[in-house]
This record gives sequence, C-alpha cells and structure tokens, in this order.
Amino acid sequence: MAESQPEARQVYGFGEGFEDRNQLGNKGANLVTMTRLGLPVPPGFVVSIDAFHRFADTGELPGSDIDRELALLESTTGRSLGNGLSVSVRSSGPVSMPGMMDTVLNVADRETLLRSIRDILGSWNVDRAIAYRDLNGISHDLGTAAVVQAMVMGNVGANSGTGVLFTRDPNTGEDELFGEYLANAQGEDIVSGTRTPEPLSWLAEQQPDVYAELYRHVKDLEAYFRDMQDIEFTVEEGTLYILQTRSGKRTGQAAVRIAVEMMREGLIRRDEALMNVTPDQVRSFLHSRIDRPERFLPVLSGLAAAPGAVSGRIVFDNADARNQAQRGPIILVRPETIPDDIQGIAAAAGVLTARGGLSSHAAIVTRAMGKPCVCGAEDADVDPVNGVLRVGDAEFKRGDVITVDGTSGHIYSGELPLISGEPTGELEELLEIADGVRRLGVWANADTPEMVALAQGFGAEGIGLLRTERQFSSPESLAAIRRFILSDTDAERTEALGDLRNLQREDFIKIFRQLDGMPVIVRLLDIPLHEFLPESMVTGDARSEHRREELAEINPMMGHRGVRLAISFPELYRMQVDAIQDAKALVDARVSVMIPQVITRQEAIEIKSHINHSGLRIGVMIETVRACMRAGRLAETVDFFSFGTNDLTQAVFSFSREDAEKEFLTTYLDKGVLEDNPFEVLDAKGVGRLMDTAVYWARRASPTIEMGVCGEHGGEPRSIAILHAVGVNYVSCSPFRVPVARLAAAQATIQGDVGLLATTA
Ligand code: ADP
Ligand code: MG
Ligand code: MG
Repeated sequence: MAESQPEARQVYGFGEGFEDRNQLGNKGANLVTMTRLGLPVPPGFVVSIDAFHRFADTGELPGSDIDRELALLESTTGRSLGNGLSVSVRSSGPVSMPGMMDTVLNVADRETLLRSIRDILGSWNVDRAIAYRDLNGISHDLGTAAVVQAMVMGNVGANSGTGVLFTRDPNTGEDELFGEYLANAQGEDIVSGTRTPEPLSWLAEQQPDVYAELYRHVKDLEAYFRDMQDIEFTVEEGTLYILQTRSGKRTGQAAVRIAVEMMREGLIRRDEALMNVTPDQVRSFLHSRIDRPERFLPVLSGLAAAPGAVSGRIVFDNADARNQAQRGPIILVRPETIPDDIQGIAAAAGVLTARGGLSSHAAIVTRAMGKPCVCGAEDADVDPVNGVLRVGDAEFKRGDVITVDGTSGHIYSGELPLISGEPTGELEELLEIADGVRRLGVWANADTPEMVALAQGFGAEGIGLLRTERQFSSPESLAAIRRFILSDTDAERTEALGDLRNLQREDFIKIFRQLDGMPVIVRLLDIPLHEFLPESMVTGDARSEHRREELAEINPMMGHRGVRLAISFPELYRMQVDAIQDAKALVDARVSVMIPQVITRQEAIEIKSHINHSGLRIGVMIETVRACMRAGRLAETVDFFSFGTNDLTQAVFSFSREDAEKEFLTTYLDKGVLEDNPFEVLDAKGVGRLMDTAVYWARRASPTIEMGVCGEHGGEPRSIAILHAVGVNYVSCSPFRVPVARLAAAQATIQGDVGLLATTA
C-alpha cells in the first residue's frame, strides 16, 4: 500500500470532458457534454458529489481545488471575480429535482463563493427537497454536486434576455419549439411570474440570427440526447448562451408522439422509442382526464380506485341509474356497492362511494369496465333514502352535476373540461412495434361480449379468463340456481340444471360470436353456493333460511367453493361444459375450460372424469400454494395452467386482501415494512419465486405446457417484468390495461432478466 495516496479529484472544469453524472449530477454532466459539443456554455467547474459526501462528514470543502479552478476560470474569461466576473452557484443532483434546491446568482467575492457552495450542498437537506425525494422514491443518500459558472447577463438591455423552451410541444408532442422569452431579464424573472414573457416567435422576429442559432443548437441537443429536451438559455447583448438541458417532462400523448416521430425521423432506434414511453404514459393516454386540474378545487377526496375523469348527474339507486342514463351521463353515488349494484354501475359513467378500499366491489368492477371510480371518500355522507350527498356544509341532490376524477381520487362540483384519450395512429404504431419485440403474450380478462369487443380493440390475443359467475346473475338464472340449491329430489335438480344449461348456452353463443375465432379460457363456477341465497331474499321463507344456515361457513373464501364444490356437485360443471358444447355446435369457438382452486391432481382427475367427453382443453388455475408445489404432477394431468395471482398472493402472505387493505397494509407501507402493496405489484421474492418453482417443475414434466397469468398483476408494468423473468407464456389483464401490458412486456424483453428473482436478494 502506498504511504500517502493522492486525494481523488473532487472538482472538475467543464472543459475536462469528465461526464460522470454520478459525480457531477445531471446539470453538471450535461454542461460538460454541451461544452464538449462546442455549444456556447458559460465556462465553469463542478464541485463533485464526492466532495458533497466529504463535506457532510467533515464540514470541509476542497478549498485548494476550488482555488485552482477559479484561477483557471479567471484566466479563461480574462476577468477576475468582482472585477467583471461574477458566478452562479447551482445545485446538480444525479436525479433531476426541479426547483427543489437552491441557486445563488451574481456571486462576486471569494468569501461569498465558499459560503454559497456550502449553502448549495446544504440545500440537499432542506425540507422541500426531502419531501420531494420521499414522494418520488429518490434515495436520500445520493447527494448533490455544486456547479460554479460564470454569469451571463440577460438584463443589460433590449437585445438581452432569457428564455426556456422544450424542443417539442410537451402537451401534444408536435415537432415545434415550445417556449417563452423575456427581454432584458434574468432567468428567475420568468419563473417568478412578475413579468409576462413573450412566445419564442417574438425572439424569432426581434433577433432572427439568435433564434436561428438557438434552433440549431437545441435540435442538435435533441439528436445527441436522443430525446426531447427542456432547455434554459440567456442572451447577453445579442450573444446566445445555453445554461441547461435535460429530458423534458411531457404528457402521455406527447410521449407517444415524440417517440414515434423521432423513430420515423431516424433519430432513435425502435427499442429506444419503446423505452422512451413509460407504461404509465400509455395508461394516462387512454383515459379521459381533466384539462389542467390545478385550476379547480376539489370538494371531496377519496381513493383513486379506477382511473379516468367524467362528469355526470348524481343518482343514488340502480333503477334510477338505468332510467336516467338514457338522458346523459350519470354518476352512481352509494355508501358502498354490493353485487346487486352491478346494473347501476353498468349504467353509470362513473362511481363514487363513501366506504370501501381499492379492492372493494365498486373498485374492482369499475376498473374492469374502465369507468372512473373514487371510493372510500370518508367525508361523504351518502343518504340514498333522501337522495342527498352531504360533504360538510355542502349538499348535492339527485340530478346535481359532479366530476369524478378516478386518477387522482378527487371529486369536483359541476362539469369540468375534459380531454379524452382515443388511441391515435402513433400509439398503434408504437404498440405494433412492441408486439414485434415482446416474448410474453398479452390476453385479456372479459366476462361479456362488450368486454371481449373492448379487449379486441386494444389488441388482446385471447381471453385468458372468462368468469361464469355473471351467468348466474340474471333473474332467470338466479331463480334456477336457487331451485337447484333448495331442491329435495333429483328430478327437481335435473330440471333446474336443464334451465341453467339453456340460459348459459345463450350467453356463450353471444360471446363466441364476438370472439370470432379468438381463443378463450372459461373458468367454471368459483363462488360458494350460499352467495346465491342472500339474507335479504331468504328471510321469512323457512326452507330457504334453513338451507342458508346449512351452507353458512366461517370463512367462505377458504370454504366450499371452486373445485371443492364441483367434487360435491359434479353436475354443476357438467352443466356448464354441456352449455359450452351446445353453443359451440352453433358458433365454432376455441374454448378451453379451467378449474379453480385446485390443490391436488386427484381433483383434476375426478373433474375430468365428468367433463372429458367434451373434448375441450382442460386446465387448472394455480392459486394455492400446494398447487405450486405439485405443479409437476398437475402438469402431467392437464392441458394448461393459469396462475391466479390474486388468491395466490393472499395465500402466500396469509392476508385477506379486503382486511389487509382496510386495516394494516397502509401502516406497513407507511413504515416501509413492505415496499409495495403485494396485491398491486407482484411480490417477486415470495410469490414470484414460488411461481418460478412451479414453472420449473411443470416444464420438466410437460415441456410444452402453456402457462398464463390471469390475476390483476398481469396488467401492472413492474409485475410484468417479474412474470417475464418467471417465464410464463402470457399475461391476461383487464381490457383497458392491454395496451399498457403490450408496452411493458416489450420493455421487459429489451431489458432482459435483471435479476428480479435472484435467490440471494
Ligand atoms: P434549477 O435547478 O432550479 O433549474 P438553475 O441552476 O438552473 O436552477 O438556476 C436557475 C436559473 O438561474 C437559471 O434558469 C438561469 O436563468 C439562472 N442562472 C443560473 N446560472 C446562470 C449563469 N451562469 N448565468 C446566468 N443565469 C444563470
Ligand atoms: Mg434550471
Ligand atoms: Mg380466485
């Protein structure tokens, strides 16, 4: 070991070409890059992030390095500090935190310079910077660099000024400079809003040469950084200086258009275009949203349960919802929703509930239907009997108009201006490119012909989960299943099943027509029988009450449901399969059937003995821990797997989702005990590894077995990356998430396996 190691460099001049953003931060590194590219950047140097950390530990600045760089700056400019030279001291973190840290301008003596550098490094820990990092998940350990740069003066006359611009329109993505210019001003004057800036076209008229030079430079920067840039510049007596460049923030609309157009222009490759759009940007694209919501004050807030914004007249019950919906959009307002409200929700344009979490009935149903929903708005007092919604002193009556923003969770009084999110040609082009790249298939969950049509419109390759519970919910079907449950004789049962078979056949015919050759996986009945005998309908009827008591369970979710029910009553599944066969005889369809809640292959063998005659492909839903551990044997027995990651997550965590989200999960997340809600983001280390094991044993037993995922995670980008690594064949998600999933699956392919399932983590 050397006795005295030379101190590592802590200060770097712009001209040195050292561009490490982990040392210089974004602003600093980009200033160095722009200097190297020959752009007009006022000279300066960067006190590095290393120096920040030493300063934090010891309180010492690298004084001699700073002296040396300052001397160099003085000789470059031919001026000395205080004598014609003043500098700015600017913060520069490795992650952009716009406006969160400080800037000191016009520093003109040695003394102030050092104090300013200390202040700027210290501004890493001001309250608003800490809060910003907390909100955006940025590590507090990163630290910031300080940039010291010769000042240029925008406020020394009419042919001076300062401006900011985006190289393309950040709202629409249009390829046109978008920005503002303020003559005879310093940069802060634009931000402070004391004077109204002119559009850039004004600069083009006043100083065409400056504008032409600016245009050339910013377009060069866009091409160099391969992305739309957000640029700050100053003009000093007709001479242009560029002070900052960074990737510009933009709407989903703009992100897609910019990526596709830059690709068409040959500025970026296809994979870069795919990586330049976030799945969230695609998501926001497809939902309507409030035009500049910051202009309006919400009257009420709740949980952002299903995204999108919509205005409509308030109704409080289902019959009213159906009637009123014919006269324009309505918002269904309920204390909470129950399965009976499905028709009201179907008629409504949006839903507001006072109670219930992100997995409440209202939330799940609206999300699947793609309707905006705010739930759990606890300050709302919903009085359906009198038709009033009270919020504090305010009252909204039936027929009053409100706006529900399910993306933010806010409720506004009256009708607000909305921007709708139709897919554009550019989005379709981007998603088609994604389709050519991704390895994961993208299917959709859909229960009705309407949802199948939606899924097709969004580019789903198949229907990975068609639940049949809905087929029991029409009045006729409900009556028939109740007769089945209450029957005393075989003859009664057979007759009830015959009626159900006819009703379900009609449903399947409609769905198969809409599928038009697209594959579908029909999940056989998965709910406990007693749900068909709700308390409200049995009271007073001794026989029903008695049967309901017989069927009652302490924990129905873990009780007599799914395959367990079918082992007891195989004729139920047989009836469903017969109905499918009847429908197929009229409208050909690529149907597979799936058995829920399986734990052992004996169950699959037993059920198959009742439905194998149909010749349909038969698969199992993998949603119990035991099924994962028995995946090899199960794979020998059935044609396909579909992981039900919602129930599987409940089983792996021993969390009941409803209870967890209502009670303790928020506390876990607030305290950082869990990083993410495992019902939103698939838990890689537990559920993911369990799935990985299941996939391994399944493929060993049956190398070509098809495996999909039909839980809600299938439409969530981070979960999709994990599922890509697990190696399933496809994900199936709600129709509205299909475009998001197509992009996320392509991004997962481009990024490759990034160790998400690493066993050491
Ligand atoms: P932020 O990180 O908040 O964007 P900056 O470091 O960019 O802060 O500084 C804010 C503003 O100060 C700049 O937009 C620019 O107008 C002005 N400014 C900073 N450095 C200089 C300089 N060397 N010459 C002239 N103006 C400067
Ligand atoms: Mg800036
Ligand atoms: Mg399930």
